[in-house]
Amino acid sequence: MKLYEGNMYWPTTKKSIKYDSLNTDIDKDIAIIGAGMSGILCGYELAKRGHEVVLVEAEEIAKGSSSANTGLLQYSSDKMLYEFIDEIGKENAVLFYRMCHEAMKDLKTLSERLPERGDFVTRKSLYLASKIEDITKLKKEYKALLENDFPVEYIDSKALETDYGIKGTEALLTKEDAEVNPYKFILEISKEAVRLGLDIFENSKVLDIDKSDDCFIIKTKDGSIKAEKLVYATGYKASNYSEIKDGEINRTYALATEPISGDSWKDRCLIWETARPYFYARMTEDNRIILGGEDEEKDSITNSEEKLQKNTLKLLEKLTNLFPHIETKIEYSWNAVFGESDDGIPFIGQDTDDKDVYYCLGFGGNGTVYSMAGSKIIADLIEGKSNKYAHIVSLDRQG
Ligand SMILES: Cc1cc2nc3c(=O)[nH]c(=O)nc-3n(C[C@H](O)[C@H](O)[C@H](O)COP(=O)(O)OP(=O)(O)OC[C@H]3O[C@@H](n4cnc5c(N)ncnc54)[C@H](O)[C@@H]3O)c2cc1C
Repeated sequence: MKLYEGNMYWPTTKKSIKYDSLNTDIDKDIAIIGAGMSGILCGYELAKRGHEVVLVEAEEIAKGSSSANTGLLQYSSDKMLYEFIDEIGKENAVLFYRMCHEAMKDLKTLSERLPERGDFVTRKSLYLASKIEDITKLKKEYKALLENDFPVEYIDSKALETDYGIKGTEALLTKEDAEVNPYKFILEISKEAVRLGLDIFENSKVLDIDKSDDCFIIKTKDGSIKAEKLVYATGYKASNYSEIKDGEINRTYALATEPISGDSWKDRCLIWETARPYFYARMTEDNRIILGGEDEEKDSITNSEEKLQKNTLKLLEKLTNLFPHIETKIEYSWNAVFGESDDGIPFIGQDTDDKDVYYCLGFGGNGTVYSMAGSKIIADLIEGKSNKYAHIVSLDRQG
């Protein structure tokens, strides 16, 4: 399955780092398959805890869905906290939001160890009511977040117009969110993880996996890995986990404008809205605007240049409606597939049949936050420790 198509922005921002391909037989405690955001965060966490770990990637590191990622990091999920409370009960819903909030803090701490921080910058997020009826939803969400001590502020229509220049609606302002350059972030983490002892092999597609004597033999074209534990961090591409049936793949569009010369909007906050699918916007370090949305219920990318242009122009039009003072052009545009689970919760944890197999799959709009939380959960499970969030995201959770 092809993950994206178009003219990608992030890979132009940093020179790639080359890792060798696997051309020998090696022996490790843990093997991770897939070097996107999920794989690198798992590799980093496990190496940091002193495990002997190897990460194998079929193509190049950070060139899967993670390079299509628009890099908005938020503790809020696509599904509001009050909606989760209705669906899975208050205790688990609040715990799930706490997991995401904690992952935001962990991403920040990790970024502080990287030379260029992966362009991580703490931001607020402006969550706009797309239509007047949605203001009631925002008020409910504000109450739920506030009651459970999440950092949030309510922005009424007057303040929204005065401070942000946006007319005719209201918004929530969540704090302690962030923007990141996901491509740069992964490359920088990879260097740090290698320093901690992680082995990384690129251009080494896993072709076959056998298990005998409680050990996996993981075969690539020119080599093999013997490992006791196996972590799948294979993103949306993988087809080898039969248990992930309660999810779907959709298509989405994104663009990066040329750098703008004038002002953007207050505090360069992340912007999104209550409509589904939603439109979202953020700024980059070099003063471009990244926009995304126009999701379609299609499980593959489109190669149609015309369709890409049409949908990304719609995104630009939405920006202009919001901020008529911004004049800019599209410089990069791409479409990509992304996975979402039916219940809005990612798939992270142990295989239900083989306890030596683990999954860290960044399904959902908040994939990076889930990958970070997943790396800690998986490391705890591998070490036989309990993790207070594991039951919420586990593959056999009760839906
Ligand atoms: C357009 C778009 C915008 C997004 N925006 C955001 C956002 O703003 N914020 C956010 O948090 N999330 C966002 N996401 C989601 C985010 O991109 C994903 O959660 C994240 O990329 C998933 O990372 P991953 O490591 O699981 O997958 P990937 O990055 O796809 O990595 C999986 C890797 O596994 C490798 N692999 C697969 N099979 C094998 C094999 N057999 N052998 C070896 N290697 C293998 C693949 O080659 C790939 O490199 C967005 C997604 C898209 C598509």
